[in-house]
This record gives sequence, structure tokens and C-alpha cells, in this order.
Amino acid sequence: GNAEPLDLSGALEAELDEAGGPLPVLAIVGRPNVGKSTLVNRILGRREAVVQDVPGVTRDRVYYEANWSGRRFIVVDTGGWEVDVDGLDKRVAEQAEIAVELADAVVLVVDTTVGLTDTDEAFVRVLRRGKKPVVLVANKADNPQLEAEASTLWSLGLGEPHPVSAMHGRGSGDLLDAIFAALPERPPAELLGAPLGGPRRVALVGKPNVGKSSLLNRLAGEDRVVVDSVAGTTRDPVDELIQLGGRTWRFVDTAGIRRRVNQTYGADYYASLRTAAAIEKAEVAVVLIDVSESMAEQDLRIISKVAEAGRALVIAYNKWDTLDEERRYYLEREIDQELVQVQWAPRVNISASTGRHVDKLVPAIEAALDGWETRIATGRLNAFLGTLVAEHPHPVRGGKQPRILFGTQPSAKPPRFVLFASGFLEAGYRRFIERRLREEFGFVGTPIELSVRVRE
Ligand code: GDP
Ligand code: GDP
Repeated sequence: GNAEPLDLSGALEAELDEAGGPLPVLAIVGRPNVGKSTLVNRILGRREAVVQDVPGVTRDRVYYEANWSGRRFIVVDTGGWEVDVDGLDKRVAEQAEIAVELADAVVLVVDTTVGLTDTDEAFVRVLRRGKKPVVLVANKADNPQLEAEASTLWSLGLGEPHPVSAMHGRGSGDLLDAIFAALPERPPAELLGAPLGGPRRVALVGKPNVGKSSLLNRLAGEDRVVVDSVAGTTRDPVDELIQLGGRTWRFVDTAGIRRRVNQTYGADYYASLRTAAAIEKAEVAVVLIDVSESMAEQDLRIISKVAEAGRALVIAYNKWDTLDEERRYYLEREIDQELVQVQWAPRVNISASTGRHVDKLVPAIEAALDGWETRIATGRLNAFLGTLVAEHPHPVRGGKQPRILFGTQPSAKPPRFVLFASGFLEAGYRRFIERRLREEFGFVGTPIELSVRVRE
């Protein structure tokens, strides 16, 4: 059965800033012993960290909510994910990648008394690629001499080094200013599910003759507006703007749908390239399946392609007018057997010829886009994970029981989750978590990415 509902009001509130968005996340990285934990305490202002005490999740704390004169953010100390000296470089890269992935800004801590090491430079390389704002801290700058040393760190190319003594507090005011400058007021809009502006992009895909062009014609009616691939030309129109359900949609790459392809050698190949391109350009793909034929390998391949590309997915069973009782029976069995992996996709049974239930398409597309854009706030997610882990712990393996320490959803479109665990999580358990995430938060019509980071 479902978990006893936890009182989430506190967690939810803690997680939202005044503007209503989730709090921005700051990750602290650096070699062992450079003073990361000391710095985290300094940033928290030595106050008791405000963390939801959820059983199973926060016993090994890695994230804290900081509140610095009214500006709130989450601090993640990635330092726990280190470091046996052997695989140091690999671990560094991994730690830095985690930081870049989950955070809105990264603090790289260097030990001024030691100076630059190869490991510091390894961090810099990964952080540069990550393109998130980086604040460079020259820690242990306990006196003016050491403070002067900090200027050698300009050579890292990460901008101004901030000399700090995490232990004594020296320089921490300036550092916080730099951190606030680096953190977004709110996480980028794309993470909040705000539309990027402009019509939503839909791809109609499916193998030849499933009815794509019939459906496009049906949807467009008289309203068809052809959009040029390059503004100002009328040469190669690839997208069409279509008015449906009170809003405008951009149907991408329709040229290939309308223009019938000659059955020459290679046509299949080009058709599949075009399908892939359309999926890439779209936010949501409607995969058409012809119910008058048995489901084919090619149908399944296209569906997988959409899920793998991380796009929202709607499945439209077309030519429903042709369906008799017998075929319907087999169709339902095919769906049960072949489409278990995408049970989350909304389905519509339509007929492009007669217009049957074509009006159900837009609500299905909207539901899928909603799921695709959903972002769960970190506090709420961890409250949920805590309950789940307490009620359904990972099976004990070799005398050990891997625990989930912390989870976060660094991005949406599609929803991507990162779980931090004290040991390897079996595939079955990961699927169980995905299933529960879907039960709890919806995620209709969207693939979910779930990755696990094991702390050693
Ligand atoms: P972490 O491994 O990077 O988290 O480093 P810690 O925060 O555990 O600090 C490692 C050691 O450096 C501890 O002994 C700290 O007391 C010391 N340390 C941290 N910050 C400073 C500082 O600003 N000045 C000095 N002198 N020592 C510091
Ligand atoms: P496309 O290659 O995917 O664009 O498919 P078309 O739209 O060209 O349709 C292929 C054939 O299926 C045409 O002969 C259409 O008339 C027919 N067709 C399309 N939709 C339906 C439908 O809902 N019911 C029936 N019975 N035939 C359909």
C-alpha cells in the first residue's frame, strides 16, 4: 500500500523561496583536507543546520539549507564522495561532475598553505567543461602573507580567487557576496517548467502509412500555416503552426510527412533519419501506430527512440475505424506485451479518416508535457525518499544494506534524478523507486532518468 503521508508542509515551505521556486543549490568541491567541511559550517553561520530529519536519509548529512540575511540556498558538501588515493583523478572527476550536474553554482576550495596541486587542476578541467559558475576559494589564508599568496590562483583561469580563512572567518563576507553573485536568484526557468516561449513543438512520427499525413491534414484543417525553416525564405518549409485547443502548436519537420518519399533504395534509411531529427527538434512526440496491422519492430523502435531522446511521449492508435472484435483482442495483448516499458505514456485511439477522438490528442499532449516539465523540490523529494526507504529498505546483500542518503532532481525535461547511496542499488530496487516516484508525483507521458552515485 501507499506510504503513510508524511507532514510535508515544513519541508515544502523550506524548499520554496519567496518567488515560489525551489532554492538554488551550491556545491562545495576540492581535495581532501582543504577545509570544505569547515567552510560549509562557516557558510551555515554555525547555526544548527536546517535539514529535514527523515529516517534513513539524513544520517550522513550531505546537504544543508543556508540562510544568509534572508537569502536562502542549499549547500551540498560533495566531499564525502572521495577519495582513495589510487583512483584519485577518477574520483576527482566524478565528484566535480556530480557538483556540476546537481548545482546551480560550484565553490572550488584550494589550500593556500599548500598551493596548487595536480588534483586542483584536475578539478578545474572538469568544472570548466561543466559551464556552471565557479567561485574559487583560497582557504586557510589565515594572515595577510597567505592572503597575498592567493593571487597566484589567478592562473587557474577561474577569475578572482577569494582568500578566506574558513576557520577564523576572515574573508567570508566577501566570499558570500561572490556566492550570491554566482547563484541565480532562482534556478533557471527551464528547470521550473516554464515554457521557453513560443509554441510547443510536436513531432508526428511513425512508420510509413500509419496515417501521419492524414492526421496532420485533419488537425490543420483550413488553419494551416507553413513556417519556413529559415526566416524569410519559402524554400523548404519544415514546420507548421497549427491552432488547436485554443493555442498554437508547432508541428516540426512536417516536410517529410507531406512529401511522399519515393520507394527508392535508402528511403527507409532517410525516413528513419528524419524521424530521429523530428524527435530531436520536438518537446513531445506523438507516435502513430496502425491498429489494422500487428505491431512491428519498427513501431517499437520509434517508441524507444522517443524515450531514449528524453522527449515526452503520446501513443496514438490510428485507423481505429478498421478495428473488429478479433483484431481488438490481439491488439490489447500486443500492447500488454510490447509496451510495458512505456506504460506511463498516454494513449489515444483515433481515426484520422473519420476524425474519431482526434480531439483527445491535445489533452494527452498537454498531460505529457506537464509530466515532462515537472520538477520536485529537494526537500519534498527527500521526505518522500525517507518514507520509502524506511518502509521498503534495500535488501541486505553480503551483510550490507545500501541506504539512500540523499536525492535531488537537478533538471526536468525530462525529469532527471540523482540518488546518493551508501552502496550499490540493484536494478530491481531502482525500478521500484522509479515506479514509486511515478505513483507519488505523476510523471505522465515522460521518461525518467535515475542515476545513482555510490559513496565509498
Ligand atoms: P575537508 O576534508 O576539505 O572537508 O576539510 P576539513 O574542513 O575537514 O578541514 C581539514 C583540516 O583543515 C581541519 O583540521 C581544519 O581544522 C583545517 N582547516 C580548515 N579551514 C582552515 C583554515 O581556514 N585555516 C586553517 N589554518 N586550517 C583550516
Ligand atoms: P503516412 O505515410 O504515415 O503519412 O500515412 P498516410 O496519412 O499517407 O496514410 C496512409 C494510408 O492510410 C492512406 O491510404 C490513408 O487514407 C489511410 N489512413 C490514414 N488514417 C486512416 C484511418 O484512420 N482509418 C483508415 N481506415 N485509413 C486511414
